[in-house]
Amino acid sequence: MSEPILSINELYYSYPNRTDALCGISTEILPGQKIAVVGSNGAGKSTFFLNLNGVLHAHNGEIRYKGTVINKKNLTELRKNVGIVFQDADNQIIASTVRSEVGFGPMNLKLPKEEILSRVEQALAYMNLSEFIDRPPHYLSGGEKKRVSIADIIAMKSEVIIFDEPMAALDPINAQMLEDVLFKLEQEGKTLMISTHDVDFAYRWAERILVFADGNIIADGEPTDIFSQNDILTRANLKKPILLQLYETMVHNRMLPEISSSPRNLVEFQTLIENHCNNPNFVPVT
Ligand code: ADP
Repeated sequence: MSEPILSINELYYSYPNRTDALCGISTEILPGQKIAVVGSNGAGKSTFFLNLNGVLHAHNGEIRYKGTVINKKNLTELRKNVGIVFQDADNQIIASTVRSEVGFGPMNLKLPKEEILSRVEQALAYMNLSEFIDRPPHYLSGGEKKRVSIADIIAMKSEVIIFDEPMAALDPINAQMLEDVLFKLEQEGKTLMISTHDVDFAYRWAERILVFADGNIIADGEPTDIFSQNDILTRANLKKPILLQLYETMVHNRMLPEISSSPRNLVEFQTLIENHCNNPNFVPVT
């Protein structure tokens, strides 16, 4: 098994108003993992993310990046390698042109000018935004702003990319754009963590699900395993993914055989039904 890229040990965080947002979080993130972080509003997901990239500092506990404990001196290492795409692009975008916006992070890393320029151009091309380079980001559409906020992180070349509820407020075309970008990042071996209320997306996309409730991780496992546990879903106020619900109902009513790994997407579901119907022993329901 590969070395964790992030190790989180007994992390506690309370806000100044004494809200206990993280109550002893421990977990390890492996390089290249695709993790969906789920749980109701206020469960602690965003606070966890902000600790992971050094915006907030835990009162107790430690974070290791590739084995090295993060402290005030090496915090830049964490900020450079763990990037967050915030839910609301307007809160993330600060500069007056797309060029300066996407160049802001690399500039803070004190990279040479040519390197900054080349990173900006690459990140904009990656997000299909090259034509917007001289535009003020605040006058772009919601979907375009989202793409700029992702380009910000691409330009940092972060190894871990966190998306805080990225699907919120995206129309279907931009939601598909986001899934395409996630696929490209996955192919490049990036470690991806996404918080989402969209259980259907989490079920089909993630290889691992972290379930947050009241500042704790109450479940951690493969999507089929997690979403089959009704007690966990109730504790975390989660719905069952519709595909899994349909599959479980059909198995329960003997309309489909139970298979070792339940179908995770529509194509797998259709294949299962077709194979079942083409089976010589298949008896249609009358
Ligand atoms: P989630 O991302 O799962 O919705 P958060 O991490 O935003 O959860 O919130 C965890 C807890 O911390 C909640 O009780 C929330 O009200 C509280 N909280 C979040 N941000 C702040 C803040 N800036 N000041 C005070 N309390 C906060």
